[in-house]
Amino acid sequence: MFPGPLGLSLAGKALATGLWTLEPIDIRAHAHDKHRSVDDTPAGGGPGMVMRADVLARAVDVAVGTDDARPRLAMSPRGLPLTQSRVATLAKGAGAVILCGRFEGVDERLIEGRGFEEVSIGDYVLSGGEIAAFVLLDACVRLLPGVMGKEASGAEESFSQGLLEYPQYTRPQLWEGRSIPAVLTSGDHAKVDAWRRAEAERLTRTRRPDLWAAHLGAAGKPEKARTRRANKPRRDG
Ligand code: SAM
Repeated sequence: MFPGPLGLSLAGKALATGLWTLEPIDIRAHAHDKHRSVDDTPAGGGPGMVMRADVLARAVDVAVGTDDARPRLAMSPRGLPLTQSRVATLAKGAGAVILCGRFEGVDERLIEGRGFEEVSIGDYVLSGGEIAAFVLLDACVRLLPGVMGKEASGAEESFSQGLLEYPQYTRPQLWEGRSIPAVLTSGDHAKVDAWRRAEAERLTRTRRPDLWAAHLGAAGKPEKARTRRANKPRRDG
């Protein structure tokens, strides 16, 4: 499955030029029976299969090594949710060892015994960890120096300042009766910045009250002012 979509576009170019590397490990190659089994039935009964701790440990120990200091991340819906700040930290680091589960998941002893941290990409269940790993890798790779063009910086994007990004527009000026907000074509950079900031705040407040509360908290605003501002009705929603 790898590099899959990460072999295309910006991530793919960066992979081809060595800005980042990927070493997929075939867990089955570390199985020890003739069927190359990596899973078995769940202890305690129930549906599905569980990935075996002994086979996974061999894959980790042989392919990764026991003294590899990179963070070990097991993709799992039970993990802490992946955030942009975690992505940024990972992108600045030495890389990561990523474990992609299948079936009902991974024997808990492997997670504990090999020091894996469970990471979730959202509150839904995928059939395998590979797509979750694509998400994690894509989010990290685009932040590596030299991957995004100069023009595309991560500094103003959603989450980077604790807010969602403001709406974006491009030509044509008029499309199906809808025009670009006049301020954006006014040439007045201060007004553009103010508009963008207000829109970012409006979108965050209405769509993501959790982020908005954290943003207000981080800004150190007093509780009364926070509530008044957050509840203030707006004609445009
Ligand atoms: N039985 C598990 C549970 O209920 O928590 C779900 C297992 S899921 C079918 C199989 C694998 O997909 C998991 O081991 C994990 O690697 C991956 N996966 C599924 N949903 C995920 C998510 N939201 N975030 C990260 N990985 C996920």
